[in-house]
Amino acid sequence: MTKTVAVLGSINYDIVASAARLPVKGETVFGTSVDVFVGGQGANQAVQAALLGARTLFIGCVGADMQGDAVRAGLEKTGVDIKRLAVSQDLRTGCASIYVDPNGDNMLVSAPGANHHISKEIIDGAAEAIRSADIFVTQNELNPDAILYGLKMAHDAGVTTVLNPSPAIELDESVYPLIDYIIPNETESEVYTGISRDGMPFGEWKRANAEWFIQRGVKNVCITLGEKGAYFMGGGQSCEAAAFNIIPVDTTAAGDSFCGGFLYGLISALPVQNCLLLGNACGALAATKLGAQNSIADYEKVKAFLKEKGVNLF
Ligand code: ADP
Repeated sequence: MTKTVAVLGSINYDIVASAARLPVKGETVFGTSVDVFVGGQGANQAVQAALLGARTLFIGCVGADMQGDAVRAGLEKTGVDIKRLAVSQDLRTGCASIYVDPNGDNMLVSAPGANHHISKEIIDGAAEAIRSADIFVTQNELNPDAILYGLKMAHDAGVTTVLNPSPAIELDESVYPLIDYIIPNETESEVYTGISRDGMPFGEWKRANAEWFIQRGVKNVCITLGEKGAYFMGGGQSCEAAAFNIIPVDTTAAGDSFCGGFLYGLISALPVQNCLLLGNACGALAATKLGAQNSIADYEKVKAFLKEKGVNLF
C-alpha cells in the first residue's frame, strides 16, 4: 500500500474502569479492574489505517508529560509517522476517564488538554504532507478553527476529505462544502439534523438524515448504526451493510475503527459497499475487546475475520 492517510486528530491517555454496572450520579461502585490505554479518536483512526497497511501520518499536539510520552510511543509502535505531532511545554496531554460495564456500555469524561490548542502553525508545519496525502481525516475532538483550517487546506489541494463529526459540536456552515465524506454515528447525525427517529420508519430516517448533510454541501454521507451496521448516501445512490454478529465487550473505538477501515477501503479503490463491509469488520473487531488502540485489529486479523464470515474483499 503506497497510499497516504493524513490524520489531523486528537490523542488521549485513557483510564478505563470496569464495573458490574455503571454508577449513577453521586454513587460509588466497586470496579473489577482499572486499566490504562492509549486512545483519542484521531489516534485510533490513524492506528486502524496504519494497521491495515496505509502509510499514515499524524498531526496533533500532546503535552511534555508522562502521558504524552506514552501516547507517542503507542502511535509509533503501530507504524504511524509522528514527526508532525507537536509537543507543548505548557499544556497537558488529553486524558479521558472511561467507565465500562459487562454489556460494553460506557460513559466517559474527556479533558482535551493540548488537543484543543492545535494552532495554524502546527497545521502549516504539516502543509506539505497534507497536500500530498491521498486522504485527509479529522474529527471534532479538536478546536473548531483547526478542523476548518485543516479541511480547507486539504480540500483546496484536491485531497479527499473525511470528517468524523464526533462528538457533535456546532459546526460553521462553511465546513460542509469542504467535506467529501462525513461519518457520524446515529446520535451525532440526529443532533446535527434535528431529524429524530421518533415516529419515523428507519429507512426514511436514514435517507432524511443523509440528505440533510448533502443539502449543505457534503458530497457523501456514511452513518454508522452500531449493531445495525452502516448506511451510505452519495453520488446519487445509497446502500447499506448489516453489522457482523459479535458479542460486544467494549465499544470504545468501534466508530474510529470503522472510520479507519472505511477510509482504507476508499484509498484502496474498493466499491463503497465493500468499504462499508470493511468498516463494519474493523468496528466489530474493536468492539470485541476492552480498550481503545489496543483493541484495533491489524490487516491479517481483519482478513481472517472476514473469511470466517464468508466475505472476500481483498
Ligand atoms: P460509535 O462507536 O462512534 O458510537 P457505532 O456505535 O455506530 O459508532 O459503531 C461503529 C461501527 O462499529 C458500527 O457501524 C459497526 O460496524 C461496528 N459495531 C459497533 N457496535 C457493534 C455491535 N454491537 N455489533 C457489531 N458491530 C458493531
